[in-house]
Amino acid sequence: MQKIKTVKYNLPVEGMTCASCVTRVEKALSKVEGIENVSVNLANEKVTFDMNEGLSPDLAAKAIDKFGYKLHTESLKDNETENKSDNLIDEYYTNLKKDFIFSALLTLPIFLISMLREFIWFSSIFPFGDDYTNKILLILVTPIIFVSGKRFYKIFWTNLKHFSFEMNSLVAIGTGAAYGYSVFATLFPKFLMIDDKLPHVYFETAAVIIVLITMGKLLETRAKRKTGGAIKNLLELKPKEATIIQDDKELVVKLSELKISDMVIIKPGEKIPADGIIVSGSSFVDETMITGESVPIEKIVGSKVIGGTINTNGSFNFEISALGDNSILGQIIKLVETAQGSKAPIQQLADKVSSIFVPTVILIATATFIAWMIFAETNNFSIALINFVAVLIIACPCALGLATPTAIMVGTGLGAQHGILIKNGESLEIAHKINTIVLDKTGTITEGKPTVTDIITNGLDNSELLSFAASIEKKSQHPIATSIVEYANGLNTNYFEPESFENLSGYGVTAIVNDKSVALGNEKLMNKFSINIDDFSESFEKLSTKGKTIIFCAIDNKLNGIIAVEDPIKDTSKEAIERMQKSGLEVFMLTGDNNITAEAIANRVGIKNYFAEVLPNQKAEKIKELQKQGKIVAMVGDGINDSPALVTANLGIAIGTGTDIAIESSDITLIKGNLNGVVEAIALSKKTIRIIKQNLFWAFVYNTIGIPFAALGFLNPMIGALAMSLSSVSVISNSLRLKRVKL
Ligand code: ADP
Ligand code: MG
Repeated sequence: MQKIKTVKYNLPVEGMTCASCVTRVEKALSKVEGIENVSVNLANEKVTFDMNEGLSPDLAAKAIDKFGYKLHTESLKDNETENKSDNLIDEYYTNLKKDFIFSALLTLPIFLISMLREFIWFSSIFPFGDDYTNKILLILVTPIIFVSGKRFYKIFWTNLKHFSFEMNSLVAIGTGAAYGYSVFATLFPKFLMIDDKLPHVYFETAAVIIVLITMGKLLETRAKRKTGGAIKNLLELKPKEATIIQDDKELVVKLSELKISDMVIIKPGEKIPADGIIVSGSSFVDETMITGESVPIEKIVGSKVIGGTINTNGSFNFEISALGDNSILGQIIKLVETAQGSKAPIQQLADKVSSIFVPTVILIATATFIAWMIFAETNNFSIALINFVAVLIIACPCALGLATPTAIMVGTGLGAQHGILIKNGESLEIAHKINTIVLDKTGTITEGKPTVTDIITNGLDNSELLSFAASIEKKSQHPIATSIVEYANGLNTNYFEPESFENLSGYGVTAIVNDKSVALGNEKLMNKFSINIDDFSESFEKLSTKGKTIIFCAIDNKLNGIIAVEDPIKDTSKEAIERMQKSGLEVFMLTGDNNITAEAIANRVGIKNYFAEVLPNQKAEKIKELQKQGKIVAMVGDGINDSPALVTANLGIAIGTGTDIAIESSDITLIKGNLNGVVEAIALSKKTIRIIKQNLFWAFVYNTIGIPFAALGFLNPMIGALAMSLSSVSVISNSLRLKRVKL
């Protein structure tokens, strides 16, 4: 069967207010044929999904339109999804603010009159009788209900048609009941009179609830805008324009007009507009914003520069190699965006609970009403009603829906600012459970850039041996191969064209050079061809103990010499490994290199457990072995022959400007090439999960404690409205605390 190609969409949705909306939108979209992997993020009010190529996203818009949600597909055409959803949120915020001010101004007199009328002296300064006062209140409160309250009733109504309920339903039923009853009591008091006393009215309750909930939404929207700040910061890294050379003239152009291969001029202090390679000049470039590396990096002719970084004092010209979505910054933005829109498994519980929460609350509220009707001694209708309203209002589950996504947004955003790219909420969650770290040796603990240090020969010249070795290694991509070729280039070595070249992954290389069969590689390779290494065993041991890697060079099945290469350990490795061990993590090293070299390197960085002489295809097996012992394993590698291990591990961390494959197969990518990033990523995960747990705890506790109080008549619905608004705001503020975390 042919696999259908899909397109990933990430679009703003208008009208989602709480956790139950999330479930509803997800369900409605998942039902559409050709749409998969739907995930709604309430924090940035966006939905991501995969859609079969050729289908129109309008199909998706239609599916949720009947539930009262609007999918903004037009932003696709603008190619400015980010700005679009920002504008939407801004517009929403302005409207909310207007509604809030309007309803607050009207509520003030309503509230004062309703409270003060309870005092006898009030009648001496307020000349209207109870009957008239009620009518004045009715006139004041009606615009609040129909103007500011409209947003709740509209959504309630759309949902009611599908017999579904969510947060707006609770507010709408609650305030609607209080208002409706009071209108009736004002216009037809006779029906409700007990002992000739006018019935009590609850206009202020309806008004205050609407004001407070609108205020809560207002504060919530303001705080939410802050959680998405990371992407905005990233987008602002690039300059608006750039100076390029065209027909020998300098020309200032807009960023959107840049093309691959354009020659860009960078002056001191300028922002670099795109990725590229320096052709002339030199400078130091501040790459903090991309890699988290705080020291400016030296750039000379041939160095890569990254769009979005800032030049210091020098100046240079560079040729553009990548732009837009293909640039490093573009890829980072995409990654962060997807991560921020993704869900952590911990959220599933909250989603499940809130989808059955609202109907349950309506049942509890109804039961409360009935119980008070039966058991209250006087005024039972009025008391039953107010407690019914109190239960509805206190139980609104909006804090629940915000607990996880806001923390994920802030957490992944903060990571990106430190050069830690987290693939999704799931990766972020797993990271905090890790208790074992496996580090690849080459390129992870070490620089991955070995240099030749010694050549020892027997029966032929060093230069002769080198010319055989380098001729073959020219064909290999291995870092060891590169080092040998570089060394040979510096010595004007003769090259031959090798025949029948073969790369034996984890062993070395073989080929026919100048009619001689040459084998170049480790001890295992020599064993494979039954080549005796006794003549060199002494030097082999001596050099290996120093942490060098020994390459045996056999010509026509006779060992003619060895080449030692040394791959320097990164300055930061030892300290970072110590930090891991101090925080209780068990650290292992994994390498294809020989036992003696492995031991030497492990000793130097303070690692006790290591696996040496592991073939590339066995690396994943080693991870599985550790997992079988019950360990939760993070594998850190550069992606050169360790991708399977990265995938097998519970958490795959790709380090350095790793290869593209590694980024694909990893859960976390560290742009900055040092191991401190591993410690920081785990710390970030722990802090984020702690915040999520706090958020969920408070959101749950507050609802569960509130409901019985309200049902028993101990909670004024106005206080309930205040508590509910504040709880959403406090959940978001708690998530925003993450922004200030030091990594
Ligand atoms: P690592 O785990 O250090 O990345 P590899 O699995 O890539 O190691 O390689 C293991 C060993 O195989 C190297 O230490 C080296 O001895 C040998 N080897 C691999 N490729 C080559 C090559 N192109 N030339 C010489 N030796 C090689
Ligand atoms: Mg490797």
